[in-house]
Amino acid sequence: MNWQSILQAVAADVAPVVGGGRVANYIPALARVPMQQFGIALATVDGEQAAAGDSHTPFSIQSVSKVLGLTLGLQALGPALWDRIGREPSGNPFNSLVQLEREEGKPRNPFINAGALCVADRLLSAHEDPTKAFNDLGCSLLGEVLAFDAEVERSERTSGFRNAALANFIKSFGQIDNDIDAVLGLYYRQCSIVSHCAGLARAFGYLANGGVQPETGQRIVSREQARRINSLMLTCGTYDAAGEFAFKVGLPCKSGVGGAIVAVVPGRMVLCAWSPGLDETGNSVAARLAMELFVSRTGLSVF
Ligand code: GLU
Repeated sequence: MNWQSILQAVAADVAPVVGGGRVANYIPALARVPMQQFGIALATVDGEQAAAGDSHTPFSIQSVSKVLGLTLGLQALGPALWDRIGREPSGNPFNSLVQLEREEGKPRNPFINAGALCVADRLLSAHEDPTKAFNDLGCSLLGEVLAFDAEVERSERTSGFRNAALANFIKSFGQIDNDIDAVLGLYYRQCSIVSHCAGLARAFGYLANGGVQPETGQRIVSREQARRINSLMLTCGTYDAAGEFAFKVGLPCKSGVGGAIVAVVPGRMVLCAWSPGLDETGNSVAARLAMELFVSRTGLSVF
């Protein structure tokens, strides 16, 4: 297939909705990002790359970093990671507190904020310098150190009342070991990682390639772990819209409130689309439509 012309056609088709939706205004630094932007890129496991639109414009990856956190968590702890984190869709907004009360501080999955905070706690226990662990992973995936946006990190720290509530609440059940400020600090740092569509499409190649990074041949996670990360992306990766994504896209996806959506086509490629305007479920309006159009044009889906 001619990936380049497919991506260009998808970019042209989504153009009317680019600028629609709302930016994530609960994080002031994200609220300032211009909405009239759209990028899309893919990288195949065989080394082909294609891109269209603002495919190299940097953005805050936000919750897409939860996939990196989960990867590091599985590398460090293996199945013991699941002692404190579930694997079920939450059916609640990504920053919801209510379920935690009923379920005694065990978050439903690692892709809601509560779950990512628990993963951050486990990483703090497992690594002397967990930021370095993220950086080392970034080097293995992209061949370069990760960029962090200090302003976004600060902005989240000063406006993250809900995340602070979640972390304190979970700790009250004894499910967080480390100091709350350290857990929140690591979480905000990972959310502030900056990348672009072309970078993320390359970075997550290991998830399309049985756990091995296609460009380097380096094993990042086991084949089984890669399969499980993909399963969780499919069932829990797109907030409260995961059912709709499975229905309309049928690929493991992870979205972030910075407007990115990463999609894995197992055995084939990783695709990343980005546009800052979000719908009411927190998913990028244009990136979401781009995923649907890409799948209907190519027929690439796990179903
Ligand atoms: N840093 C964001 C928050 O904690 C991440 C949310 C997201 O991208 O889902 O609210």
